[in-house]
Order: sequence, then structure tokens, then C-alpha cells
Amino acid sequence: MEELFKERKQKIISFRKLLHREKKVTRKDVPENIFVQCPKCKETILSQELEASYYVCPHCHQPLKIDAYTRLKYVLDEGSFHELYARMVTDPKIDFPGYQEKLARESKKSGLRDAFVCGVGRIEGMKVAIGVLDSRFFMGSMGSVVGEKVTLLIEYATKKKLPLIIFTASGGARMQEGIVSLMQMAKTSAALSRFQSHGGLYISYLTDPTTGGVTASFGMLGDLILAEPRALIGFAGPRVVEQTIKRKLPEGFQTSEFLLEHGFVDMIVERADMQKTLALLLRLHGGEKR
Ligand SMILES: [Zn+2]
Repeated sequence: MEELFKERKQKIISFRKLLHREKKVTRKDVPENIFVQCPKCKETILSQELEASYYVCPHCHQPLKIDAYTRLKYVLDEGSFHELYARMVTDPKIDFPGYQEKLARESKKSGLRDAFVCGVGRIEGMKVAIGVLDSRFFMGSMGSVVGEKVTLLIEYATKKKLPLIIFTASGGARMQEGIVSLMQMAKTSAALSRFQSHGGLYISYLTDPTTGGVTASFGMLGDLILAEPRALIGFAGPRVVEQTIKRKLPEGFQTSEFLLEHGFVDMIVERADMQKTLALLLRLHGGEKR
């Protein structure tokens, strides 16, 4: 028994390592019985069990971070995703010291060109324009590429009269792009205003963490605002708020549950229920198969 435990112990890896590993090796190459440590409660979980539970820890129920393509796989009909604007990269003229090198490193690490993946797909047969911020690239921060892709997706949905769904996860504005980054807040908000004035349905789905410029623009502008359980959602971080107002913040401040209670979020949706909830909302708003 002791030996078995020893053997198992050797196979415990961090969740971050599992995500990295899954990108690099094919499923066939992954050895059986890998145990992953939950970054929140530190319990160990069998990797297959984690995969079957949509990467939600079965012990503490914390939804663990997933990449954009996994998120799309969970909500869209199989094989229905067609990616748009996939080749867009940051203008090399934005030359904050070391920024281009950092972009290259982020790209190599995540396999992405920037932090937003978007396109069209179907949910239970209903066509949608859909985008996901991926926190693996520069913490999902919003620079010119994210802002431009979000805007183009909104304009595409306006033109094609499609419902729009955006999953957010962001550290906020991308500081290295300065004012160009801040401008994306106004640009995406203006495009959304045009979309909504044409009668378009926009569902935003806030995941952990959604902060800064993304919260202050398209994150919070959904006709319906959904959130993942236990997600951190806010503008400035809790420490900054505490230091500014010189008061202790209430328990659970800036969580999805707190925001639901205070009317900023319409509904908290478990990861396993995402697809059927989105399908129901689309049908309630006149979604049709076409
Ligand atoms: Zn856990």
C-alpha cells in the first residue's frame, strides 16, 4: 500500500503543468492515471476525472482555468466553429520597450497570436457569433488586437444579424499599449451600442478573472450578463479599492455571487450547464436554426 501511494505521489503534477502538457502531447501519448493538484484546495484529482467534470474541481467545486478552444468545444455543436480574424497580430510600430519580445514569448507559450479567439458556430443548431478571451496570453489583457477583433466580431454579428456571445477573462487594459489600449474600451462599447440599436442580442459570460478595461466596457454591457461561479469580477483589485477608500471590504466582495446579489449579474451558470443555458436563452430570444 505504501508503495502504491509512493508511486501515485510521483505522478502528481500541477494543474498548470497539465494544461501545458496536454498542448504538447497527443492524447494517445498521455500516460494513464496522472494526478493533478487543484490550485485552490490542493487536493489531488485524477486527470481523466477532471476532464469529465469540465475542469471543475470535484472537491472544492472551483472552476479551473480552461483555454479558449476548450471553452468553445464545451458550448458549440461539434465541428461547427469557423474562426475569424485568426491571423491578426500587434502592429510592430507599438514599440514600448521589450513589448514585441514579450509578445513573442506569450505567443510561443500559449500557441496563440493574441488573447481573443472568435468566429461563428452553432449552439443546438442556432448560429451565433462567438468570442473567448484566453487568459494564457498576456493575462487576457486588452490591447489593439483584442479590441479590434472584438469590434470586428460585433460588426460581423450586426451585419449578419446574429446573436453575439463573448466569454471574458482579463487582467484589464494592456499597459504596454498605453492610450491605444484605453481607446479599445470606447471602440468596443460604440460598436456594441450600434449592434444593440439594431436589435441584436448580446450575452456576456464573465469568467475568472474579469477586471479593468474589459469589465468597464464589453464585459458589463451584455443584454444578459452571465458569470461562472466563484469568479473574480471587478474593476480595480480589492487591495487597491481598500487602500483608496480606507475601509475593509465585505466578505466575498467582487465575486460572481456578490455581484448577482447586488444586481450586476443576471445569472450564475455552472460550466456543465453552459451549452443548454445558452441554447435556452437563444430560443427565448427568437433564435432559429438557419
Ligand atoms: Zn479544489
